Amino acid sequence: WKHLHQNLADLAVHASGHGDALLHIYADERLSYENWFRAVAALAHELRDMGARPGDRVALAMRNLPEWSVCFFATVAIGAISVPVNAWWTGEELAFALKNSGSSFLIADDDRWQRTAPHRKSIPGLTQVILARGERTDGTVRALEDMIGGPPDYANLPERGLPDMALTPETRAAIMYTSGTTGKPKGAIISHRNLVTNILSSKWATARAFIRAGQPLPEPAPKVLLTVIPMFHATALSAMLMGVLDAGHSMVFMHKWDPVEAFKLIEREKVNAAGGVPTIAWQMLEHPDREKYDLSSLESVSYGGAPSAPELVRRIHEVFGSSPGNGWGMTETTATVTSHSGEDYLHRPESAGPPVPVADLRITDPDGNDLPVGTVGELWAKGPQVVEGYWERPEANRETFIDGWVRTGDLARVDEEGFLFIVDRAKDMLIRGGENIYSSEVENVLYDHPAVMDAAIVGIPHKTLGEEPGAVVALTKGKTAGEDELKAHVRAHLAAFKVPVRIIFHDEMLPRNANGKILKNDLKALFS
Ligand code: ATP
Ligand code: MG
Repeated sequence: WKHLHQNLADLAVHASGHGDALLHIYADERLSYENWFRAVAALAHELRDMGARPGDRVALAMRNLPEWSVCFFATVAIGAISVPVNAWWTGEELAFALKNSGSSFLIADDDRWQRTAPHRKSIPGLTQVILARGERTDGTVRALEDMIGGPPDYANLPERGLPDMALTPETRAAIMYTSGTTGKPKGAIISHRNLVTNILSSKWATARAFIRAGQPLPEPAPKVLLTVIPMFHATALSAMLMGVLDAGHSMVFMHKWDPVEAFKLIEREKVNAAGGVPTIAWQMLEHPDREKYDLSSLESVSYGGAPSAPELVRRIHEVFGSSPGNGWGMTETTATVTSHSGEDYLHRPESAGPPVPVADLRITDPDGNDLPVGTVGELWAKGPQVVEGYWERPEANRETFIDGWVRTGDLARVDEEGFLFIVDRAKDMLIRGGENIYSSEVENVLYDHPAVMDAAIVGIPHKTLGEEPGAVVALTKGKTAGEDELKAHVRAHLAAFKVPVRIIFHDEMLPRNANGKILKNDLKALFS
């Protein structure tokens, strides 16, 4: 507990002390902690000179590049608010977020710069545009390279400190958008305290796994992490803040997710921990070329942010010989609220772990009354990681943030020992003639069938019953199973009303958003 930072500027200064250790590894580029800090400090001064003031919104539209964290930290270090937008969004969606957040600055990579070009003039207040990487073809934009030099190493920049700014734990650091799985993305207003709380959570989670296993705490050692999920989601950002900057770990970015590229990187960089969303772990497990690569450096494979099949836990342990980990959180809680790994998780493969000590959970009925232990109801969460609210969404704020608690919209139960079990999203639960069907329960049974690689349950509208369960299933390459066989498999494990009435087969993994969540609204359309 040596370094409990009050704000992200303090954390950046602490991180600079890791010196020559590598923070970012990207293709052939290597960026040391020391040079990263030089770049952060230089850009922080530049942004001040360009007129950025505390509370101003500085949008960040970029793939996972080393510049991402340079720009993020330079922004938050001067008390401005970073708005990391989804790099998958279209020009129109990006424009929505720039307008919604009232951003006056935009820092974009080449693609996002071009994609926003037709829209930028229509965004009131957007006065400064910085091109982070790529060919500059337009005089109205400044190039990051001209401002602070280029990657990979920023070694020629002078050693200087961050601008002297008054930052408190409550200072707003970021507006991060929810994934938009259930509606239009909402911008969660994230404070410095919300983010630094993740350091505490991660230290606790690491220590806990060893204490529970009766093992001594290991000496802190630098690790190499492969980060394949996008930094613009709270999960990846908090992973960087938790493990990486505090401890001096290295973070390997890849341009685009591809399992074989991941294998090559794991082998070449001797990656110790791979993290992301469950789909990524599946794709690595299922890949026919996996055994061609030396993946023996992998100590842990963890994920969160989306439902995962219990089967995945055992497979990771067996195939990689490494520790599986899972965590639950949402943008509104700045990522991690519960987490567990190793033996704990192997013994409870359906759980997302117990809450970190600074968080509280409750389970309620739809009217907000507490339910007895073990009962399924709506999950609420409270703690220093819960954000103050959404940016300019007063109605959603009233519904979601109540007395310091966030109403999650997830259906879950908490067992006697405090372990959380997510059962479904309230919006994904089906009601068939008055009977509740949790989509994840049926999906998990389908996953258990040896031929099933991917599965989703969605509601098919029905005149008298309201809705009936339909399944979309992708089979593992080279394996077969018919509709009747899969229905019989579900019937053997679950009540008859939960058996899908129709099964549609899909050739590949089901479509997901950037955060690994199945696009159920798109799948529903297949049944109409
Ligand atoms: P939107 O709120 O815009 O509809 P979203 O809820 O998908 O999008 P996020 O904040 O990225 O946006 O995701 C949080 C949600 O992810 C949680 O409410 C929960 O449903 C799901 N989730 C997170 N972690 C887990 C986990 N370990 N297991 C199951 N589901 C999880
Ligand atoms: Mg949500």
